[in-house]
Amino acid sequence: MVDLLPAQIDYWQKVESIARDHFSRAGLEEIRTPIIEQTELFLRGIGENTDVVGKEMYTFEDRGGRSCTLRPEGTASVARAILQNGLLNNGPQRLWYGGPMFRYERPQAGRQRQFHQIGVEFVGFDSVISDAEVISIAWDFLCALGLNDLTLELNTLGSNEDRHSFKEKLKDWLNQRFDLLDEDSQKRINVNPLRILDSKNIAIKKLLCEAPSLSDFLSKESKNRFDFLQELLNNLNIPYKINKNLVRGLDYYSHTAFEITSDHLGSQATVCGGGRYDGLIADLGGPKTPSIGWAIGMERLIILTKDRISHSKFPDAYVINRGQNAQQVALKITRKLRSDNFRIELDYSGSSFSKQFKRADKSGAKLAIVIGEDEVSKGQLMIKQLRDDEKEKGGKEYICSIEELNQLISKLIV
Ligand code: ATP
Ligand code: MG
Repeated sequence: MVDLLPAQIDYWQKVESIARDHFSRAGLEEIRTPIIEQTELFLRGIGENTDVVGKEMYTFEDRGGRSCTLRPEGTASVARAILQNGLLNNGPQRLWYGGPMFRYERPQAGRQRQFHQIGVEFVGFDSVISDAEVISIAWDFLCALGLNDLTLELNTLGSNEDRHSFKEKLKDWLNQRFDLLDEDSQKRINVNPLRILDSKNIAIKKLLCEAPSLSDFLSKESKNRFDFLQELLNNLNIPYKINKNLVRGLDYYSHTAFEITSDHLGSQATVCGGGRYDGLIADLGGPKTPSIGWAIGMERLIILTKDRISHSKFPDAYVINRGQNAQQVALKITRKLRSDNFRIELDYSGSSFSKQFKRADKSGAKLAIVIGEDEVSKGQLMIKQLRDDEKEKGGKEYICSIEELNQLISKLIV
């Protein structure tokens, strides 16, 4: 698990604020659910035979002897919250969430045990345009962050019935080639054969080129859905690639499945994963409620956007001060200027003016406000411009009274 240090927080806040803005313009509302859930929720919601539930969950008993789990993803929790709070009584829900998730995985670049997701859920929507809308919200958000070299991969997993007949056929085919499979895939044949399609093992990938394809098992209705979705995306000029082996790791998906990947992330290439989960709410004891959503991995997103986000948290002014009387004035005007909405940094060192000026330069502030005993006795302040472009012109100095300070700073920092 990793600490997010001050140097990184700027990037996070910027991405979060663009997300918030983007989602609110799309009419989404935020939901925040607890980080700990009853283990049962994930067993039922995600499926016992998935990697997440089988190998990756942080599960423990609380003092009351109940089995609890740190949430490994957000969708099951959102679905539970919607049911428990009767939100569907107000009609279908369009929600977004963000926050930490926990999976016991092998840590590496772009993969942590505590990581963060930001996700969108459309709960109670069946029509194909909701699929297109959900995908476009993800795509446009990533574009708004300046990412323009991403790939959207698209597949359909068909209905439950489509998948059922395909699974049997795939199992037979795999069993005939049992010895060619790796141990992981051998284990999956009977419990979750679809997941083998998603194998990262090159040899298995090659073998699977010949495997039966789910696309041959789709009902007419499922095919039509998928064709129409492609038409809608074409019409929106959102480029995509069909990937028939894209299955997604969690059990609850049906019909539309998609991932957005980047070439700049090494082997952890997926930034966003999502799909339709028409059965989840019913599996959790609610009414049949078709739904679709996605989640973006924040850490991977930050890796991609870091170079594109500018650092903008420089102070407007740095307050240089020397001597006890000057310190009193410095503290007072710092407080006053902050309440006037300026971003002010105060020097606490009492060291020489030249040392304080060096620190002021380093802080990135546009101005230095200088207060020495001399200034205090005259009831004045000195303001000096620090920005490189101004310094070339000699770093202009101004003398003003405390009363004039606010106005002068406003003028100088534009
Ligand atoms: P992967 O194939 O990379 O394990 P996944 O299919 O398990 O991904 P999802 O459950 O779809 O991932 O989660 C959505 C997104 O969350 C992923 O695309 C990824 O960006 C991010 N993510 C998932 N697991 C981790 C992790 N352990 N560390 C960092 N980010 C993660
Ligand atoms: Mg995973």
